[in-house]
Amino acid sequence: MASYHIRATFLPEGDAPSDLWVLDGHLTFQPVEGAEVLGPLSGFVLPGMVDAHAHLAMDMGGGRRPPGPAVIEANVSANLAAGVTAIRDPGSPRSETLEWVQSGGRPGFPVQAASRFLAPEGRYQPIAEWADAESLPDAAAAHARAGAPWVKVVADWPRFDKALGKRVVPANYDEVTFRATVDAVHAAGGRVAVHCAGDAAPACVAAGVDSIEHGDALDSALLAAMARKNIAWTPTLAMTEQLALVSTRDDEARRRFVNDRYDAYRALLPEAARLGVTVLAGTDMLPHGSIAREVESLVRHGLEPRIALSAASSGARAFLGFPPFAEGAPADLVLFAADPRNHPEVLAKPSLVMLGGVITTR
Ligand SMILES: [Zn+2]
Repeated sequence: MASYHIRATFLPEGDAPSDLWVLDGHLTFQPVEGAEVLGPLSGFVLPGMVDAHAHLAMDMGGGRRPPGPAVIEANVSANLAAGVTAIRDPGSPRSETLEWVQSGGRPGFPVQAASRFLAPEGRYQPIAEWADAESLPDAAAAHARAGAPWVKVVADWPRFDKALGKRVVPANYDEVTFRATVDAVHAAGGRVAVHCAGDAAPACVAAGVDSIEHGDALDSALLAAMARKNIAWTPTLAMTEQLALVSTRDDEARRRFVNDRYDAYRALLPEAARLGVTVLAGTDMLPHGSIAREVESLVRHGLEPRIALSAASSGARAFLGFPPFAEGAPADLVLFAADPRNHPEVLAKPSLVMLGGVITTR
C-alpha cells in the first residue's frame, strides 16, 4: 500500500501546519521514509466528515428508485466524493440500510444504521413500523437486540388543527413511554434517536434519549438539560431551508412558521455551543453528498465555523464513536486548498478525499 506525507493545518482547531503520514492505511505522526508528499502543501486537513442524519436507503436525488442496496451504494459513493467517510443513518422504511451493513456494507466505510422508524399507527408516513405506547419499549428493544446501534422513534408529528386553524405538532408518546423505551434500548446495547420537531421535546429530554433530530421546539432550558445529559442535537437546518424555499411559493402560513424557526435557530445554535451541547451535521432529505450545505447553513445561523466543522467531523466522531483523528486510526481524511473556516465555499470542493489510506477523490 502507498504511504503518504501530508503537511497541513489540522482542522477544525489548528492554526499552523503540522505533519502527518499515512502508513498501511492508517494515520501516524511518526515520519515514514520515502512517503509520497501529498499537496497542496500548507493546505488544510479535516478528519473524514460525518453525516449524522443521512437516509442511505432513500433516493433523495429526485428519482423514485426503491430503497435497496443499489440506492445505498450510490448514496455512499456520493457522500464519499463530498468528503464524508462515516454515516449515521437514522432509519429506513424496511431496515434496508441495517441489512446492508449486516451483510458487509462498504468495506472501510463505517455506517451506524438505525432500524425501521417506530411510530404510533397513522402518526408518521406509512413506511414506519406501528407501535402504540404499550408496545414501544419492547419493539424498540427488539430492534437493538437484532443489532441496530440506533433505534429511531418518531416522537411527534404535525397535523393541521381545524379548530385552531393552524398546524400543530403533538407528541406521539408520553414521558413515561419514552423513559421505558430509552431504558429498554440502552439495556439491549443500543441508542435512541428521536424525530422531534414539536411538542415531544420536553418529554424526550427528560427521558434521556441520545439524540434529538430536528429539534425545532428546543429552548434554552432544554438545551441546558441536553448538555447535562449528553444528548446531541441534529438540527438538519439546510433541509429546513430547502423546504422553506419550496413553501414560499404557495403557503403563507408555512412560510411564516419556517421563518420563525430561523430566528429561533439564530439564538439557539450559539446558545447550544456555549452550553456544550454536541451539535451534529445532518442533511436528511437533501441529495446525498450535501454535507457542505449543512455546515454553511449552521455557520449562517450563528455557529462559529470551527464548531460547525466539528459538528461534521471530529465532534460527530467523538459523540457517535467513529475513530478519532489519532495515531493508528484508519486514514480517513479530507484535504482543502484553502481554510474552510474563512472560505466556507471550499468545503464543497475537497482537493483530496482519502478512505482507509486509499485516495478516492483527487
Ligand atoms: Zn430524517
